[in-house]
Amino acid sequence: MSDTFSIPERIGRLKDLAYNFWWSWDPESRSLFEALDRVLWDRTQHNPVAILRDITPERLKEAEKDPDFLRHYDGVIKSFDYMLGLKDTWVKKTHPNLSDQTIAYFSAEFGLHNSLPIYSGGLGILAGDHCKEASEIGLPLIGIGFLYPQGYFHQRIQADGWQEATYRPLNVNRVAIEPVVFPSSGKRFIEIPVGHRTIRIAAWQVRVGRIRLFLMDTDIPENEPWDRELSARLYAGDEDLRIRQEIVLGIGGVRLLRALNIHPAVWHCNEGHTAFQMLERIREKVALGETFDSAAAEVRKKTVFTTHTPVPAGHDAFPPSLIEKYFSSYWPELGIDQSQFWALGQHKETWGEAFNMTVLALHLAEGKNAVSAQHGIVSRRMWQHLWPLSKEDDVPISSITNGIHVPTWISPELIRLYRRYIAPDWIERQDDPGLWQRVTDIPDQELWHTRQHMKRKLFNFIRERARTSWTQDRAEAAQLLAAGTLLNPEALTIGYARRFAGYKRATLIFRDLDRLKRIIGNQRRPVQIIFAGKAHPADDIGKHLLQEIYNLAKDAKMGGRIVFVENYEMHVAHYLVQGVDVWLNSPRSPLEASGTSGMKAALNGVPQLSIPDGWWPEAYNGSNGWAFGGDTSLSPDEMDAADVENLYDILENEVIPLYYMRDSDDIPRGWTALIKETIRSIVPTFSMRRAVKEYTEQLYAPAINGKKPASGQ
Ligand SMILES: *Cc1c(COP(=O)(O)O)cnc(C)c1O
Repeated sequence: MSDTFSIPERIGRLKDLAYNFWWSWDPESRSLFEALDRVLWDRTQHNPVAILRDITPERLKEAEKDPDFLRHYDGVIKSFDYMLGLKDTWVKKTHPNLSDQTIAYFSAEFGLHNSLPIYSGGLGILAGDHCKEASEIGLPLIGIGFLYPQGYFHQRIQADGWQEATYRPLNVNRVAIEPVVFPSSGKRFIEIPVGHRTIRIAAWQVRVGRIRLFLMDTDIPENEPWDRELSARLYAGDEDLRIRQEIVLGIGGVRLLRALNIHPAVWHCNEGHTAFQMLERIREKVALGETFDSAAAEVRKKTVFTTHTPVPAGHDAFPPSLIEKYFSSYWPELGIDQSQFWALGQHKETWGEAFNMTVLALHLAEGKNAVSAQHGIVSRRMWQHLWPLSKEDDVPISSITNGIHVPTWISPELIRLYRRYIAPDWIERQDDPGLWQRVTDIPDQELWHTRQHMKRKLFNFIRERARTSWTQDRAEAAQLLAAGTLLNPEALTIGYARRFAGYKRATLIFRDLDRLKRIIGNQRRPVQIIFAGKAHPADDIGKHLLQEIYNLAKDAKMGGRIVFVENYEMHVAHYLVQGVDVWLNSPRSPLEASGTSGMKAALNGVPQLSIPDGWWPEAYNGSNGWAFGGDTSLSPDEMDAADVENLYDILENEVIPLYYMRDSDDIPRGWTALIKETIRSIVPTFSMRRAVKEYTEQLYAPAINGKKPASGQ
């Protein structure tokens, strides 16, 4: 493992640095690893552990003797140690009684960095951002999740536009994770019952600044082959695999913490996948002689649950046969019978009676929240039947709007610009709206040229990937055009990247192809659109939508102005949200819970053109982007027609003219004003800092202090 590195002593702490994901959002650390070996930095997609594995001893010797490198190194190590030792945090100052407690945060996915591919999309990245921000403000959080040794799939698009999913085994020696040895047994694993079998679970520790994450893994030689496969992949397999994964995540997660002698004061379940942990905590108390009811009441007080989707099919639910199979020996241990157990999660699905994980979590968590104000309204309506005596407005589900971890998503160019014109310590003060008034001090010219530079970086990135698929994968010529080799850095560039789930309506903008062709093909004011996104491997409808777009990208009639970038994940997302001019979001309202990619774009000076859904109604002020369509009184087909009509009108009459209106210095003054208003009005409010502070004040602190959660409605 990690002891096989041979790094010269003078720069020996590069290893400590590489094994803490803090480097992923600390610009000085990132540039240190980049300076260590630029080629490896790019080749490893910014992965310091892999760099330290691959770097030559000669290069390390050079670095050890290079005064510039050493100065840089010493500076980074100093701030690393300062960060690790910092006591004077926001939590310590404002909630001193929280700082020696533990908050356990359970999530099926965590998106920290592309080198650890244990996330599929927004939910995981949100969890990763939550952990990073917890570290920054001094929140004593511990994350619990899975190491999926084959991760989420890698996407390639075949010449006919069909998505190909491949799984690449994760090499644990090349990622910033470390094996856990359990102090109680001295072993690498703990054991848990899953149905009538016993499964052994190993764990990995991940350092994220000041906090830690534990990832469970069943792929160890001590398990049967069948059980080793259990944690292999994220969201792959049938319901039987899924329930077993959730048993390991929930029940195994609690046992893991106990084996590590960690006793959280608050337990946060991120989405229903994790909700079995509530049952396990009840079981612990029943084993000590409590009744089910009193145990459940105690557990509830210390439990927080976040729901993440208004799409009914997005809530996990299991049929009676699976519950019987895996829990018939468990409910006696809870001191209840089958029908009492069933009642905890009972819900009518379109396909029949089921045990619904969201229902279970809503029953057993005191603090319950949705992830935007509008999602709060939708969720209270959606789950009102669980509180038949309450009016819809009184259903106890509050909302905390999502945010993004600012240092993770900001471009290095803008960090410097904001330092110069906003404040040298703007990252520390990012959630102070007053500070952001200063954005008007940034000279238009400098802002515009910085944005242009970020755009060229995106286009270079896209071209280099096309070059690789040309030389290594023998892609066809038309595929290279579809991949973006004809992109023009002068043309207005729209970005659209998200999962290819039906409600996201990726193909909406193609509804009137002739009109779209006229818009993008305008010689004087061309427009190009870059798409990216994965369809779930089992979602053929999503794959067909993707294929439709890919074939248009290859079609000469679209003039090379439609582009599809393969394998959307965090690395690609960075380039996209930083490099395009406009961020497009066209979900079918009101099915978007929050959405966060538009926040990442706004942070980088990219205005949003979005349906007023998810977070956008809270943020849109009439001059920081555009809202189109979203009339929920229409039928789905009418809605599509009305939404797209409105989208074309706004493009033709507002977006395009504003972008191409230049002054005598060739600066689009109207556009730079829009960029500034986007940054000013969105960055301080839609940051993860604001969100995690709200979680602390509205949910964590009340649970620790024995109070009712604050209502965030
Ligand atoms: C931010 C992000 C998402 C979530 O974005 P939405 O706006 O919720 O669609 C999904 N995938 C990746 C790779 C991201 O970076």
